[in-house]
Amino acid sequence: MNMDLYPDNPYLLLTPGPLSTTKSVKAAMLQDWCTWDDDYNRIVQRIRGELVSLATVDPGYTAVLMQGSGTFGVEAVITTAVPRDGKLLVIANGAYGHRMVKIAQRAGIPVCVYECGETEAPDVDHLVDILKQDPHITHVAVVHCETTTGMLNPISNIGAMVKCFDKVYIVDAMSSFGGVRMDMGEVRADYLISSTNKCIQGVPGFSFVVARQNELKKTRGRARSLSLDLFDQWETMENHPGKWRFTSPTHVVRAFAQALEELKAEGGIEARSRRYHRNNRLLVGGMRKLSFRPLLLDSLQSPIITAFHSPPDPGYEFKQFYDLLKEKGFVIYPGKLTDKDTFRIGNIGDIHPADVTRLLKALESSMYWKKSVDVSRDRQDNVSSWQPDSCRFQ
Ligand SMILES: *Cc1c(COP(=O)(O)O)cnc(C)c1O
Repeated sequence: MNMDLYPDNPYLLLTPGPLSTTKSVKAAMLQDWCTWDDDYNRIVQRIRGELVSLATVDPGYTAVLMQGSGTFGVEAVITTAVPRDGKLLVIANGAYGHRMVKIAQRAGIPVCVYECGETEAPDVDHLVDILKQDPHITHVAVVHCETTTGMLNPISNIGAMVKCFDKVYIVDAMSSFGGVRMDMGEVRADYLISSTNKCIQGVPGFSFVVARQNELKKTRGRARSLSLDLFDQWETMENHPGKWRFTSPTHVVRAFAQALEELKAEGGIEARSRRYHRNNRLLVGGMRKLSFRPLLLDSLQSPIITAFHSPPDPGYEFKQFYDLLKEKGFVIYPGKLTDKDTFRIGNIGDIHPADVTRLLKALESSMYWKKSVDVSRDRQDNVSSWQPDSCRFQ
């Protein structure tokens, strides 16, 4: 454990959320708040306002906070927005796209899928064909950064087509919002979902939805669930400014307000995006030098998280690699692809280029499968060079 480098944490999280947060964000939780008191409700209202201004310059949008992790926010949107006679089309190229399909199926919402394959970007012409062929489709959903692979989907081009056909557009921007510059108005998105513990760099505990107000207003009474009724939650937050219907995660909310302050202090989304890009370029360049291959073409890669092919060496095993890196102060992420063996490294959170440089050093000295190859060769040539230390990972 590397307590000297990271006095608050034995390791840095190189995962796409929960992620490494600053000490000041964690410290903001050291106070208790009353959920119906003005002091607290003002914080909630300020957060809602700031989320809208981070999402767009268009005044027609509003924000709703929802208890639960990011998936609860996605489920709240899908099960509230799509009417009884509606139909959802999901554009899917990874696990989070498929999760939206599952959410719809579970709620009995008619759903169809455009499967792009995990390493392919959606083809907008194909999307047009689907929309032409199936006039029952009312809503289209896509993931912005598909965290499964790190792919950044072309939400603007998709949005333009979705609006040509006059459909409602839902974007899961969970792992990109706050870290990648975009404007919901330009993207033509009606709903955008994200959560506290991704690029805004808060602690986990609630999700939030930025929605086109005119669209959200149509959804009264549509929800299939009481606790995930996005319209009801919004109406309560509007009519009793800053009030949540049910117990709100007060400490998480306070930490999130602090995280938003720190985003501003860093220079906003543009500055944060620059830092993430720097982290990512450094990471991918360094990994290539160590002979790791990224899964995606550079043109499809987000600055958020990168999937790498697992080394083909017979001695490689993720768990052992992971444990070695963890001992050195870094936690990475297993792969989540159905047909390829990969692992992932995230570079969002309170992670800076100097951390990535240290990570690359730790990685180089954790490639135990390379060592074992060298060691066994040594052993054949010269038995006396056998060191107890170097056979540790055999
Ligand atoms: C993190 C994430 C989610 C939500 O996951 P939770 O575990 O529910 O927070 C949804 N979509 C994407 C793209 C994500 O990265």
